[in-house]
Amino acid sequence: MSTVAFIGLGNMGGPMAVNLVKAGFTVKAFDLSKDALHHVSEQGAIPAPSACAAAAAADIVVTMLPAGKHVRALYLGDDTNKGIIDVVGQGTLLIDCSTIDAQSARFVAEQAKAKGLEFIDAPVSGGTAGASAGTLTFICGGSDSAFDQAQGVLNAMGANIFHAGAAGAGQVAKICNNMLLSVLMVGTSESLQMGIDHGLDPKVLSEIMKVSSGGNWALDKYNPCPGVMQSVPSSNGYQGGFMVDLMVKDLGLSQEAALLSNSSTPMGSLARSLYVNHARQGNGKRDFSSIFEQFNNKG
Ligand code: NAD
Repeated sequence: MSTVAFIGLGNMGGPMAVNLVKAGFTVKAFDLSKDALHHVSEQGAIPAPSACAAAAAADIVVTMLPAGKHVRALYLGDDTNKGIIDVVGQGTLLIDCSTIDAQSARFVAEQAKAKGLEFIDAPVSGGTAGASAGTLTFICGGSDSAFDQAQGVLNAMGANIFHAGAAGAGQVAKICNNMLLSVLMVGTSESLQMGIDHGLDPKVLSEIMKVSSGGNWALDKYNPCPGVMQSVPSSNGYQGGFMVDLMVKDLGLSQEAALLSNSSTPMGSLARSLYVNHARQGNGKRDFSSIFEQFNNKG
C-alpha cells in the first residue's frame, strides 16, 4: 500500500486523513496546529516534523489548506523555504483538495510539470459529514494519467470522483457549485422564515417544499432553521460544518472568475454581499446556514 503525506488536518483534512489510515495507507501527517496533528496521530497517522519531511517520504501528497496563498507557498516554497515540488521523488503524485482560485491551481500544476511531476486540483463537496463518512465528491482537474493514478486514494475518502477537465477545471466546477449552494441556502432561509412569519410550522413547510418544485440540497440535507433537522449545524448553535468565512472566500473566488470570463452572476454577487455582511456581524466562524438569522431578526 502507498505512503500518503497528508498536509492540512483541519475540519476537513483531519477526518479525510483518518479515512486513509482506515483504508490501509501509511499516512505521514503534518499541520501547523499541534492539536490537529495530535488528533490524527491518535488515530493511526504518523506525525511528521514538517510538510516537506512528510512529502519527501511519500508516493502521493494530499493537501487540504485554507486558500490559494497557502497552497502556492507550500508547493512552491519561497526564498527561504523549499517547496514540496523541490523535495518529492520523481513519480510522486500531488493532489490538492483545497478550494482555491483556478489560476493558482494552474500555476502550481505548471511549476510541478516543469519538474516532471503531476499535480491535480481535486476540491471536494460534501462537508465535514462527508469527510468523516468517506462519502465526499471529488471534482478533479488535471491530466488523464494523473486522474487515473489518484483513483485509489480518492476512493478511500469519497463516493463520487469526477474529472472536470484540464488543470484548474476542478476549481472552476467547485466554485460554480458553491455559488449555487449559497443562493439555495439564502433562498431556503428567506422562504422558511416567511412561512414562519405567517404561522406555519417550519418542519411541515420543509416537508412540503422538499417534495415540491422548491426542493433542494439545503432542505434535504442541511435545513438552516433550528429544530427542523437533527445532526445539522442549525440544531447545534451553528457550530462545526462549513464556516461563513470560507463561504465568503468561495463567493469571492466565484466573482473573480465571473470577471475573468465576463459572466453575469447577479445571484452570486448578491449572495456574496449577504454573506460578507453576515461575517462582519461576527458570524465568520459559524456555519454558513446561520445566514438564516439574517431573516429572523437575530442577525
Ligand atoms: P480548516 O481551517 O479547518 O483547516 C485548514 C488547516 O490547514 C488548519 O488545520 C491549518 O492549521 C492548516 N494549515 C494552514 N496552512 C498550513 C501549512 N502551511 N502547513 C500545514 N498546515 C497548514 O479548514 P477546512 O474547513 O478543513 O477547509 C479546508 C479547505 O477545504 C478550504 O479550502 C475549504 O474552502 C475547503 N472545504 C471546506 C468544507 C467544509 O465544510 N469545511 C467543505 C468543502 C471544502
